Amino acid sequence: MELSNRITGLAGGGAAWGVFFRARRMAAAGDEITELTIGEHDVRTAPGILDEMHRAARAGHTGYADIPGVAELRAAVADRVTRMTGVATTPANVLITPGGQAGLFAAHMAVLDPGQIGLHIDPYYATYPGTIAATGATALAVPTRPEDGFLPRPGALAAAAESPGARSLLINTPNNPTGAVYPRTTLEEIAAVCADAGLWLISDEVYDSQVWEGDHVSPRALPAMEARTLVVGSMSKSHAMTGSRVGWIVGPETAIAHLGNLAITTTYGVPGYIQDAATYALAQGPDLEEKIAAPFARRRRVALAILSRQNRVRPVPSQGAMYLMLDIRATGLSGLAFADRLLDARRIAVMPGESFGRAAAGHVRIALTVDDDRLAAALSQLLEFAQEIAP
Ligand code: PLP
Repeated sequence: MELSNRITGLAGGGAAWGVFFRARRMAAAGDEITELTIGEHDVRTAPGILDEMHRAARAGHTGYADIPGVAELRAAVADRVTRMTGVATTPANVLITPGGQAGLFAAHMAVLDPGQIGLHIDPYYATYPGTIAATGATALAVPTRPEDGFLPRPGALAAAAESPGARSLLINTPNNPTGAVYPRTTLEEIAAVCADAGLWLISDEVYDSQVWEGDHVSPRALPAMEARTLVVGSMSKSHAMTGSRVGWIVGPETAIAHLGNLAITTTYGVPGYIQDAATYALAQGPDLEEKIAAPFARRRRVALAILSRQNRVRPVPSQGAMYLMLDIRATGLSGLAFADRLLDARRIAVMPGESFGRAAAGHVRIALTVDDDRLAAALSQLLEFAQEIAP
């Protein structure tokens, strides 16, 4: 029996993920691999959050939970968004989702019809093209350039926005994989393009607690943007709750009401005990988020100090998120070849820039997700390797 084009057309990651899977196989076979690949914390969810999850489950919150999200969690998310962005946000602006990824899919379902075009920026988080394609729309990447710090140029955005059928633009700040935190001016340019072309803006802000320099600006806070912006957030990165699958969409009340109907036909909500644990976690306030983010800030400083001793491998200037993007073009290798050879030569796994689209070719991304000493040792090895290879 034939499956739909929609589902068979979803790529499972592509060749550039080969290094990642090879590293996992090598590790499973007993090799000691330093994995600097995916955005998974090296600490687990805090015991207090787990205690609350357990308490809520034992208290009976194991049945179907309210579909748009339990009232307490919607209120807690609305408070966090109001506090962090200055935009008055109520529970009616919030839909709880099973993680940011489900939020990204639902947000695109809310604004794209089959055959239309959803724009996103290149380089991108690996799921973006598939997420847009899964709605039946076409994903169109808008390339950025290393020399611009991978920030989108308004001209390129405006040209893409003129594509017939373009209905939405997906951005991500703080950015995975580049670490860029979009400055207000860039966000204003993006807002102007969206307003001129009548686009929805889908703003992926799952790294909003990981800002090392400057400030995170949510584009929903810019003039006239509240009505055309859907913000995707998550407990995964801010609270080390990746496996709990809990996140949200914040947007106009009408959109959130329709998204609630979509949730009835897809996820049927998020487990109540998980939502109670998320409510508890948010009630701990910014201190907990800062504590979880702190090791990445520290390791970034360690990494930048090591990188500053040479100039063959250059860090892409970045201000946030748990990654560093390294420009390895001076080695003459593609990101893919560099990552492949590094894995064999030094047992260090990094993500080739090519796994995030075309714009980051000749780069590799390292995740700051191993302890400081191990990171420092791996980075020194990586630099030694980069010095050894021609040209
Ligand atoms: N958006 C970006 C940019 C990410 O890097 C990730 C995960 O790595 C997600 C969304 C999805 O996160 P989750 O579904 O765990 O909330």
